[in-house]
Amino acid sequence: MSDDLLEKTISNLTSRYPELTFCSSDTFYYSPHDKTVYYDASKTDVSSLWSLLHETGHGVCGHENYFSDVQLLLFEVEAWKEAKLIARNLQLEIDEEYMQDHLDSYRDWLHKRSLCPACDLSSIQVDADTYSCVFCHKRWKVSDDRFTRPYRKSVSGR
Ligand SMILES: [Zn+2]
Ligand SMILES: [Zn+2]
Repeated sequence: MSDDLLEKTISNLTSRYPELTFCSSDTFYYSPHDKTVYYDASKTDVSSLWSLLHETGHGVCGHENYFSDVQLLLFEVEAWKEAKLIARNLQLEIDEEYMQDHLDSYRDWLHKRSLCPACDLSSIQVDADTYSCVFCHKRWKVSDDRFTRPYRKSVSGR
């Protein structure tokens, strides 16, 4: 991807979605508090462009409050759906496999979060950052790094 394409896309997105702010950062994420899409302008690979469109998707969908990891996964699916539409409008294309890979990595990550640290069984989420094991009744907190979770770098081997 050329630097021009990222720049051009940012300027297209800025005029199409005046309700969102686009801001250079060291990673890609959407902040619902200030309705800002952060992007890493130093990245030149095409998947960075897809990340930008995905984060814009979160913004366009107005994602902000999530109460459970399951809901977050639904947000992820929705953001990619929206990203595809945005891409089409800008005559861009997002690789289907990349999207599926991203969602798979999210599912894996959420599954690992839900495993009880004591008995290793899958447990239930009781609020935004607390899980509870139905077997041993252990409760534990999970970190709240969901919107800033880094992307998997590679999609190879699939
Ligand atoms: Zn996302
Ligand atoms: Zn347990």
